[in-house]
Amino acid sequence: MILPPANLGMLGGGQLGRFFVAAAHELGYKVWVLDPDPRSPAGLIADRHLVAGYDDYPALDELAQACTAISTEFENVPAATLDYLAKFVLVRPSAAAVSVCQNRIAEKNFLRQHGLPIADFIAVTGEADLRSAAPGLFPAILKVARFGYDGKGQAVVDGREQAIAAFQHFQGETCVLEQKLALGSEISVVLARDEDGRMKSFPAVENSHRKGILDVSLVPARAPSGLRSRAAELAEKIADGLGYIGTLAVEFFVVDGELVVNEMAPRPHNSGHFTLDACLTSQYEQQVRALCGLPLGDPRAHSAAAMVNLLGDLWYENGPAGPRYREPDWSQLHAFAGLKLHLYGKHHARHGRKMGHFTVVDDDPQQARERALAARAAIG
Ligand code: ADP
Ligand code: MG
Repeated sequence: MILPPANLGMLGGGQLGRFFVAAAHELGYKVWVLDPDPRSPAGLIADRHLVAGYDDYPALDELAQACTAISTEFENVPAATLDYLAKFVLVRPSAAAVSVCQNRIAEKNFLRQHGLPIADFIAVTGEADLRSAAPGLFPAILKVARFGYDGKGQAVVDGREQAIAAFQHFQGETCVLEQKLALGSEISVVLARDEDGRMKSFPAVENSHRKGILDVSLVPARAPSGLRSRAAELAEKIADGLGYIGTLAVEFFVVDGELVVNEMAPRPHNSGHFTLDACLTSQYEQQVRALCGLPLGDPRAHSAAAMVNLLGDLWYENGPAGPRYREPDWSQLHAFAGLKLHLYGKHHARHGRKMGHFTVVDDDPQQARERALAARAAIG
């Protein structure tokens, strides 16, 4: 077991890293963050912030020398970086597991090989792949294989010609073309797996999106309990298949009452923010525990919860002379009972940028959801 006052390393300085730093501090560890942005949210509260790129080897050497174990909050850290660090220091999750989740083709092949239900798809490396795609794949979604997030790098295409145009728009970057499904709902499961393969899953979350970005998460999901436990089983099967150590998130579609795996994230997940306020152990504390070889914590939720993302759009107020930039009036939110506000300390709000979130806890999920939506209406 790695115990305090050990230094832990975190690759990536976003809000997920910031919550990791807070969880690690709570348990007595120190944290070094590596992120190229001098004002990254996690870097601001870290014991040391290495302002450097993920392929800056002198900085990686410094991190490896200072830290006993390293994790990541950013799935696009180059696998070569994780492999390099792993020569000197414990790295969890492994480069192998992260690289499966980094590339939609590798991810879908992995899921198919392990017998998990996925949408029909083909890999697209050139226009010829689109010309020979089976007509049954359309309508479809063309997604860049790497670096997509929050719906970026995706295009809904009704047919072959549109798909070719979208592929050209993505400048011929390697893509997947997957069948567009009629989604009943979307759910996710966040779990933690330790070095001995023991797993603890958080309750399944129901997610709704706005403009491709997660908007509201509700827990427990309104899906039947059989479906929720099946989602946890599938997520655990994925974690086992990856030999995963750490916190893993799995996104699912519910189509005609059946689960389809959408994608995985090799890190804590936006839809798992509720665990900070509604569970005995948060997804971030689990990440610390799995990294350090501590027994995993109890993931039980003590309340139902609804989480609302706060995007940069809220900072722009419509006035007679056009949009005006100003800090939202947070006092409105502090008046709501059972509401927990989290702001990430980002220096500038942009449209679509995740600036913070709040969670409303309640005995009843429907109540939690309604009160969360009322709270949001109160600020903008
Ligand atoms: P990201 O990496 O941006 O989260 P996703 O693959 O999860 O990318 O897609 C973002 C959202 O787009 C999903 O949450 C879902 O709402 C919608 N979507 C993605 N794939 C499909 C699909 N095959 N059929 C229908 N909707 C989809
Ligand atoms: Mg997604």
